[in-house]
Amino acid sequence: MSKILIRNISIFTGDKENPLLLEGCVTIEQGKIASVTTGVYIEPDNFDMVIDGQNKLIMPGLINAHYHSYANFVKGLNPTVALEQWMLYTMALGGLLTPEDVYWNVLSGAMEMLKTGTTSCMDHLAQGPEALDAAMQAYRDIGIRVTMAPMISDKPYYATLPVREELVPAEFKNQEVPSANDLLELTTSLYKKWHTKEGRLQVAFGPSGPQRCSDQLLRECARQAMLLDTGFHTHVLETRAQARTAESLYGKPMIFHLDQLGCISERTSLVHSIWLSEDEIDLVASRGATVVHSPASNSILGSGIAPVTKYREKGVPVALGTDGANVSGSLSMFGSMKLAGLIHNALNEQPDTWIQPHNVWEMVTHHGPKVLLQNDLGTIAPGQKADLVLLNLENCSLNPLNNVMWQLIYSEPVSAVETVIVQGKPVLLNGRLLNNSEQKIMDETTKRGQRIRDAFFRTHKDQVERQSAILQKLC
Ligand SMILES: [Zn+2]
Repeated sequence: MSKILIRNISIFTGDKENPLLLEGCVTIEQGKIASVTTGVYIEPDNFDMVIDGQNKLIMPGLINAHYHSYANFVKGLNPTVALEQWMLYTMALGGLLTPEDVYWNVLSGAMEMLKTGTTSCMDHLAQGPEALDAAMQAYRDIGIRVTMAPMISDKPYYATLPVREELVPAEFKNQEVPSANDLLELTTSLYKKWHTKEGRLQVAFGPSGPQRCSDQLLRECARQAMLLDTGFHTHVLETRAQARTAESLYGKPMIFHLDQLGCISERTSLVHSIWLSEDEIDLVASRGATVVHSPASNSILGSGIAPVTKYREKGVPVALGTDGANVSGSLSMFGSMKLAGLIHNALNEQPDTWIQPHNVWEMVTHHGPKVLLQNDLGTIAPGQKADLVLLNLENCSLNPLNNVMWQLIYSEPVSAVETVIVQGKPVLLNGRLLNNSEQKIMDETTKRGQRIRDAFFRTHKDQVERQSAILQKLC
């Protein structure tokens, strides 16, 4: 693995007290940061690659802690409706993807993430074994870091709706679902084939949501995650209706039910987590689980605003994710950071508890690694994995550079991203992908996106719209 020297560069370590080191060098060896120095000249002779950092800033790569790669080709095809109706469109669209579509879908999303400064993602992808293999191959090819948590569910969709079963029309009830054992096997097989402890590709357990899974599946996912020392990732309490129905489903609040099944621990990441009670938040805090906040998705679906200020008060780590492109519009973590930095303070009349730029940064680079169970990511320091982003300081968003933390969160320096290094290997250099042809990814995205869109309009749209109208009245 190559040795890289990056010199004459402004170093943004991400440290709260001393985030910006002016004019220094970062060296990389064996995929990790070997040294970080200021005011020291390092001879370029012993390196395989030397990057001149004049007028550039180096920062830790951003971590997208919740994302669905299937959605890249179908963004814009879901109307702005509530989650229950939105799911009808999503299931129809997701069912149109072939394994080869999934491969190009992953590349398309990874390209967008790399070009916007993201070096790691948690992909929650609902597909069969062949397509999941295709997805992992795409991640291997393009060079971004991923934890894949196959999104699994062993309950039919109608049974997951927040409405009494006898009220659901018969046409919703003709769906077959796989068994809990088959779904566990799907994840463990993927884990055995692709997961590497120190590598770039990892696999975690991803039950879609407690209301969509049997207790057996939830319990086994948690048990296997512990045995295999990997993560447990699930959507939780995204809508108010889910919180209301938990009591009738389980006879207790949802988080208490999950805890009884062994699902709430330090390896657990709970996506959305908008409608938790005070007691449920206390329980999450006491177990050391992480919440993943997705402000764009929550706003587009009108799901609500997660109580992030309260999570922070109670010491619950909050990471940040874009969610799928069909429910966030973009995979830019700079966009998600800005939104997370804005929406909570606008509703909070106590300025002393406002979310500050460094709090948002902490979500992405300190708590994001916790979701991936990788504690050597997110800062620039010797021994950390070398996942790094170089930004052009001659970009409008960063010039003049008065307050780097503030500008990274509020000025959205997406177009300043020039070079991205993952696991010590450059994958984007001067704005261009190194491992794949951007034109080929664009062409495949156009071709496959059009085919899926046409098929949806031709064979699914009318039925989905009619069923959506039924659900709007029911839920
Ligand atoms: Zn999601």
